[in-house]
Amino acid sequence: MQGLMYNKQEVRRGIVSLLLLSVFQLIYSQDPSILVKSVFSEALTDLTAYRHLEYLCKNTKGRIVGSAQAEKAVQYTFKALKEAGADSVWLQKVPVPSWQRGIEECTITTALHGTEELTIAALGLSEGTGAEGINENVIEVHDFEELKALGSSRVEGKIVFFNRPVDNTLINSFSGYGGAVNQRTAGASEASRLGAAAVIVRSATQFTDDFPHTGVTLYASGVKKIPAVAVSTIDADLLSRRLKADPDLKVRLVSTCRILPDTWSYNVIAEVRGTVKPGEYITVGGHLDSWDITEGAHDDAGGCVQAIEMIRIYKKLGIRPKRSVRAVMFMNEEISGTGGRIYAEEAGRRGEVHYAALESDRGVMSPRGFGFDAGGERLEKLKSLASWFAPYNIRDFDQGGGGSDIAPLKALGALQIGFMPDTQRYFVYHHSANDTFEQVNIRELQLGSAAIASLIYLLDLFDL
Ligand SMILES: [Zn+2]
Repeated sequence: MQGLMYNKQEVRRGIVSLLLLSVFQLIYSQDPSILVKSVFSEALTDLTAYRHLEYLCKNTKGRIVGSAQAEKAVQYTFKALKEAGADSVWLQKVPVPSWQRGIEECTITTALHGTEELTIAALGLSEGTGAEGINENVIEVHDFEELKALGSSRVEGKIVFFNRPVDNTLINSFSGYGGAVNQRTAGASEASRLGAAAVIVRSATQFTDDFPHTGVTLYASGVKKIPAVAVSTIDADLLSRRLKADPDLKVRLVSTCRILPDTWSYNVIAEVRGTVKPGEYITVGGHLDSWDITEGAHDDAGGCVQAIEMIRIYKKLGIRPKRSVRAVMFMNEEISGTGGRIYAEEAGRRGEVHYAALESDRGVMSPRGFGFDAGGERLEKLKSLASWFAPYNIRDFDQGGGGSDIAPLKALGALQIGFMPDTQRYFVYHHSANDTFEQVNIRELQLGSAAIASLIYLLDLFDL
């Protein structure tokens, strides 16, 4: 009978919190627009999230998985989530790969222009050249068909230069990126199959700049791992021009990156306990790891601090969702996605019911709306949520969205939601040294936090 025995204090506390809850729900369920307004007002007048972003950018810059900076980011966000008032905060152990950049040099020498340096960055997980480097002829291609048509007789021993630009006519900047990025992810494997010595890949960005944009490259099983580097778009254009004038020019390439033994890191998880259905979960997250050459402000410290801010706002305003809401700082999105996988595996093992999951990993520019991986009647209901956001100019509620960290939760039935900001500037920053704290506009960050906190509240309130 132990379970039925309460002391007076507990009973009193129970009654008080029940009363508070009913008053709160009475006010807000009558008119959720009042709550949405207070969420926006709170987000737009508080600096906590902006300061968190500044800390992550300036004090944990280059927090690639396996690095001391990544561990510092884990410790910092753990503390930040506690300070936000989460009911519980914990770390979840995640296996991660470890890869380290080394010395990087890339030069071309021509009779007319002498020696010119190209701005490069090795691709994540790529093989190095060794300290002596390589000095080889270059062959420029634009896609895998063109490469295959050349055959091994033309490619063997050479450096393959993938120079397909992002299609700037595509309005959706992610579609443009998606159309070019296979050169980076699979180019090394395709070139290696034909005996290439290395690959140089045009940075996957719509913009002409001098920043190399890195990212992961994946070697297919069985192929020889050859060095792979990204080159800035300015220098990709330069190399292409020089090759047209002198097809026999050689590139000298040095990249002494190396793969280290696998190691461990953590997802950081915080929870606000649900009042009605505490056994059902809504997850909101971003990824804590970044590339080593960047502060990772838009990608994706911003997404992480928006999730922390949701918790802070709920606690500050006394918002008590029916379901348990979690903020998750996922580890290792950039290289192999183990953080998202471990989170879903553990949830499955515990038999948790995952109602919905939202990811903010498209930068923290002005919020435009949300994408939902739903159809039919449910999608229509979700789209109807747009009316609550019209006063904030957030209107795009449509099919789509999701994110790679939350994708494994789909198997547990979680509705996949993507936070959709205006992404026209996103690939100026993506995976480059240009993704700094200064590139984030405080109001845009705040509006995004408010939009996310409001959406999750309404979704839960209306059982959508
Ligand atoms: Zn990202």
